[in-house]
Amino acid sequence: MGEDNPGVKRRVAVDGSDLHAGGEVPHAQPPIETDGIRAISPARVAAGLKSVLKAAEFTLREPGLVRGIAALSHLNQFDGIDCPGCAWPDPDQDRSLNEYCENGVKAIAEEATTKHCTPEFFRTWSVSDLSRQSDYWLGHQGRLTHPMVLRAGSHQYEPISWDDAFGMIAAELNALSTPDQAIFYTSGRTSNEAAFLYQLFVRQFGTNNLPDCSNLCHESSGLALKEVIGVGKGTVTLKDFDLADTILIVGQNPGTNHPRMLATLQRAARRGATIVSVNPLAEVGLTRFKHPKDVLHLFGPGTKIAKHFVPVRLSGDLAFFKGLCKEILEEDTRHPGQIINRSFIDKSTSGFEDFRAAIAAVSWNEIVEQSGISRSQIREIAEVVMQSKSMIACWAMGLTQQRQAVATIQEIVNLLLLGGHIGRPGAGVCPVRGHSNVQGDRTMGIWERMPDGFLDKLRDVFGFEPPRKHGWDVVDSIKAMHRGEAKVFFAMGGNFLSATPDTEFTAEALSLCHLTVHVSTKLNRAHVITGKQALILPCLGRTDRDAQAKGNQFVSVENSMGIVHTSRGNLEPPSDQLLSEPAIVSRLAVATLGNRTQVNWSHLVEDYDRIRDLIARVVPGCEDMNRRVRQKGGFYLPNAARDGDYKTKTGKATFVVSAIESIPLAAEQFLLTTLRSHDQFNTTIYGLDDRYRGIFHGRRVVLMNPHDMNEHGWKAGELLDITSHFRNGDQNDGKEELRVAPRFVVVPYEIPRRCVATYFPEANVLVPIGSVALRSNTPTSKAVIVSFARSRLVAPL
Ligand code: SF4
Repeated sequence: MGEDNPGVKRRVAVDGSDLHAGGEVPHAQPPIETDGIRAISPARVAAGLKSVLKAAEFTLREPGLVRGIAALSHLNQFDGIDCPGCAWPDPDQDRSLNEYCENGVKAIAEEATTKHCTPEFFRTWSVSDLSRQSDYWLGHQGRLTHPMVLRAGSHQYEPISWDDAFGMIAAELNALSTPDQAIFYTSGRTSNEAAFLYQLFVRQFGTNNLPDCSNLCHESSGLALKEVIGVGKGTVTLKDFDLADTILIVGQNPGTNHPRMLATLQRAARRGATIVSVNPLAEVGLTRFKHPKDVLHLFGPGTKIAKHFVPVRLSGDLAFFKGLCKEILEEDTRHPGQIINRSFIDKSTSGFEDFRAAIAAVSWNEIVEQSGISRSQIREIAEVVMQSKSMIACWAMGLTQQRQAVATIQEIVNLLLLGGHIGRPGAGVCPVRGHSNVQGDRTMGIWERMPDGFLDKLRDVFGFEPPRKHGWDVVDSIKAMHRGEAKVFFAMGGNFLSATPDTEFTAEALSLCHLTVHVSTKLNRAHVITGKQALILPCLGRTDRDAQAKGNQFVSVENSMGIVHTSRGNLEPPSDQLLSEPAIVSRLAVATLGNRTQVNWSHLVEDYDRIRDLIARVVPGCEDMNRRVRQKGGFYLPNAARDGDYKTKTGKATFVVSAIESIPLAAEQFLLTTLRSHDQFNTTIYGLDDRYRGIFHGRRVVLMNPHDMNEHGWKAGELLDITSHFRNGDQNDGKEELRVAPRFVVVPYEIPRRCVATYFPEANVLVPIGSVALRSNTPTSKAVIVSFARSRLVAPL
């Protein structure tokens, strides 16, 4: 059973291979064995010894002991390698020798692998043969070593010189009738230096078509927070987690997606802070955690992390948070002056009275029905909130990829404002970013809608007029390619096809392009679903030594808490043919712009300090960057809301009124959410197990409430086809669109009724391109309407 995406018809197929042994999870439920997948009861504790053993297994399998230790001994150390995994921050001071988690090790092992994907490999595999392999198989062919080209009409990639590759891209770009026919995507791995040069080149070329992976993840957070507190980022630091008495973790699974956050939460739980998990699934990381570094407790039961678990229905978070606000405001009416922070509200906020009236008008019936949470549990959590003196709210994709994501995040801010929990120590908002520099890339100008102030600075420093017309985000870029309006697609990192929704539609969109280009370290699905011509440009990774004319270079990144710090690779690169991302941008700019640019691109790349000097002149908060980034741990970017200064229209933090939109389901329909497995980072599939959820050897599963299974007559282990249902009011005359993903193994799981969960990218084929979060245009991967039928496929995919 492979983890393929069968939605790309006839191009993608099976990978039954490379299954590795499962864990020793307790067998409270009878094991399920179907299509090679084994499902048993979920784990009861996260991390611990198993995590250490898994990390060792991945290290030995990919880079080997010597190379592995060389990289890991520098991972997340001062002046070391920044983990290419998530964006959870490192301690400001006092770092231990192993400042990383199991998934950080997997990320390093993948990049530092000794396997190489060479021109010989491409000689033996045609593109269509490659397209039939799974994402997992593609990712395990090793590091790319040479620039490769797929010429028009050819079925095979072949080597190409760097000069010819840049010449080919430049010719295509310069032949466009307008620069807006090109799209320049960025993934969250790209360093600040590369991102700054990239956006400068793209804007000198003449377009703002700079979609990025933020469009798919925290776009909703940025938009929501900017409006109500004046800054589109989190307001807390690690220190605040040591001061908070209450921490809400909403729509987030830190055990798999930000594992070192568990150590922070463990510290908080041990000193008595109350942690509340609001999530449809009871993820083991928030239940119990054994810190792998805590040798004395490796064999004990672990630390209980979340004291309260709120199993909210998919898309029920807005109703739940309205319920908390209503409970608190009703209590305030009963005990005026004792419940909410009236002095903070009067001095620092606007819109309170309208908000109070709107909350009073929402019925308890609607709140309970839409959230799926009982009135008594809402009361229980409201008690916790009312007693809190310093509360942090964290969230991730579980919130941001809902249709009402922006309103939901603003409702969480409403709740915090009632207690004055923003702009003071131990309190604030914490949207937890999933990719190591996704936040920094935005700071550097990777956005299709950068504000005029940033563009004015670019104009003043570089002496050109940047385009002002907003560009396309990810969803609009896909639609533009599909309409034939965009003809060149350039991706700085990432696996665009597997990261985006509506796989078949996106594959068609990419295949309509004249040229698709990917700057990559390893092979992925985006390389095998191509435009008429395609290029793979292999680049250095975080672990690789980056030698330029003026010596070895470091780059900088920004973590989830707005700290800019260095990352310096120390391993021998897998090939002398690789270029760094800044070097690729520089040579692309020279080839494309010729004498239309006054920037001395090659001079900048000789010494990245020269790039940072320019960043310091353009990007607010990065002044004197070269000195400050060399300080131990780097430097904090300014964050006015953290200091109680709200740069909103009114100069105050703002209460926002919103209405709950219900998602009507027909009798046979469910809401589906996509998830990552524990052997996965974004679109990178490290292995075929998800040991925390008790799933082994495969990924094509659907987690379902046992009562729903009984009601529909489906047995554990049965094979079902999933159909998604979508009506787009604006297009298609509002007719229902259907998308099908076949042959998923049903696994009974603790999940609210009428809610189901599957892994992405396998389920991306079900997410309609037109189904997006209101205002942020983020695909609604956490709220897809689906129905099921017994599978008609007679053999495993
Ligand atoms: S928590 Fe995130 S950044 Fe830290 S080591 Fe793990 S994956 Fe890497």
